[in-house]
Amino acid sequence: MRPDVLILGQGLAGTLLAWELERAGIGFRLVDCGHAGAATLAAAGIINPITGRRLVKSWRIGTLGPAARDTYRALEAELGVPLWRDLRVRRRFADERERHTWRDKVARGELAPYAGDAEADGFWIEHAARVDLGALLAAARARWLSAGRLRVEAFGPADLARETARHAIVIDCTGRAAAEGGRFAFVPWEYSKGEMLELAVAGLDPGVVINRRHWIVPVGAGAAWVGATHDPGLRDPRPTPAARAALEASAQDLLGAGTPFAVTGHRAGVRVTLPDKRPVAGRHPDQPHLGLINGLGAKGALWAPLLARQWVDHLQAATPFDLEVDVARFLRLPPGRSTPSASSVG
Ligand SMILES: Cc1cc2nc3c(=O)[nH]c(=O)nc-3n(C[C@H](O)[C@H](O)[C@H](O)COP(=O)(O)OP(=O)(O)OC[C@H]3O[C@@H](n4cnc5c(N)ncnc54)[C@H](O)[C@@H]3O)c2cc1C
Repeated sequence: MRPDVLILGQGLAGTLLAWELERAGIGFRLVDCGHAGAATLAAAGIINPITGRRLVKSWRIGTLGPAARDTYRALEAELGVPLWRDLRVRRRFADERERHTWRDKVARGELAPYAGDAEADGFWIEHAARVDLGALLAAARARWLSAGRLRVEAFGPADLARETARHAIVIDCTGRAAAEGGRFAFVPWEYSKGEMLELAVAGLDPGVVINRRHWIVPVGAGAAWVGATHDPGLRDPRPTPAARAALEASAQDLLGAGTPFAVTGHRAGVRVTLPDKRPVAGRHPDQPHLGLINGLGAKGALWAPLLARQWVDHLQAATPFDLEVDVARFLRLPPGRSTPSASSVG
């Protein structure tokens, strides 16, 4: 089959897109430079229905949560690796203000059906999960390398004209590199550096994330991750001593003063976000043979399946992108023109 789609980047976005294209029978190739700087490899993969100091329900969690579960379960079956784990979050209040927010929102029914039992110092969040993103990238990489679909090389600006002529469309899923690369310069990209620590620690409940400002999530026998820091505007993806100290203090707070742990690893990455806190997908307004998925922020595990699915619908049936994610929302469009021109492949 003629490869119709070239995907740049095999992080979370590129992997989910390739998977949905494969399932739909649309030809594709992938190029990835070996996951250098991939935010996905620093991510815990937590899907938490209620987040932030203001205890906000994640955008469209009622539909995106079950859809994500179906996607990762299907990937598990196909790739033969465990990826999805159902979890509960033990949310501990950071202060009295957070307790009041919780009480008010529960009284108004705003956190249903995710806010569970109350505790003296917090409450339970139900229907959370963790996706093992490292295992996903590794298994998918092996699959597409052996199928001859994945090339390990750095894609440069000079390659774009050649590849857009060879493929029906090139879809840029290179995360921070895409945002900084200038191909979608009209998008108001924002960045937030994040760091997390790998820990050796015994005795954690494997089904529970503990969360107060930071989270601690069990990732296997005697192992957990604590994270993640948020440093808006920072783009240097190297781990820092300051973040390590802050996360070690958080780990001790979350585990309790008497619980010993050792730091076994330290990772960092840069999240790409948008001012309206939504991800982005769609075609370039002036180059319809160039598209993107980006802006997965801190919710890539929940959002990537939606964006990949939208691309498949768009390529198969010219379905317009959801207005809340369409890259066209960043263009000042005259009335009547809603999206860049579309054409189908396949
Ligand atoms: C510390 C931290 C914790 C996080 N925790 C969570 C969490 O618990 N839950 C959650 O849902 N999200 C979390 N996130 C967010 C999540 O990591 C991102 O939303 C998501 O992984 C972004 O995926 P991506 O595919 O867009 O980008 P990336 O993962 O950065 O992938 C981009 C890919 O493109 C490749 N690439 C770049 N340039 C080129 C080039 N020129 N040529 C070829 N290939 C190239 C890279 O090698 C990489 O593989 C966290 C992020 C951080 C930093």
